[in-house]
Amino acid sequence: MNRTLVIVKPDAVERGLVGEIVGRLERKGLRFVAATFGTLDRSVAALHYAEHEGRPYYDGLLDFITRGPVLVAVVEGPTDAWRVVRLMMGATNPLDAAPGTIRGDLATVMAENLIHGSDSAESARREIDIFFPHLGS
Ligand code: ATP
Ligand code: MG
Repeated sequence: MNRTLVIVKPDAVERGLVGEIVGRLERKGLRFVAATFGTLDRSVAALHYAEHEGRPYYDGLLDFITRGPVLVAVVEGPTDAWRVVRLMMGATNPLDAAPGTIRGDLATVMAENLIHGSDSAESARREIDIFFPHLGS
């Protein structure tokens, strides 16, 4: 799988970090092949984050991801694009994210961690299909 889904989250848009995050991914060698900008419908966000349904943070997660516009994009790399993006994102909790990663350098709290990236080839296929069904996979 050489494509993966990225969401530049509302906190990143609010803080003016879209260019920084897109630039980091591009400089690493990933290419943007599709993108859309806007506020997610709650139903789409629920589908995207379905695996978290029932968790104590689930409602807050949906509130957060739908509170303002996001950049949803498909990026492509020579191999394992999802792994490249996950490495560059850093750990889910920015307190654990290494310096040099997007979360490690630019975020401080779990709930506002700037970027989503698919966590496996299967997740990438599933998530790309939600937002960009015409791309096929
Ligand atoms: P994302 O899916 O957004 O890329 P991730 O894959 O690093 O993040 P997940 O485990 O998929 O982390 O969790 C999705 C999101 O839910 C996280 O980005 C975080 O904001 C929130 N989250 C996850 N676990 C917790 C938790 N224990 N408490 C609060 N929020 C959480
Ligand atoms: Mg995840």
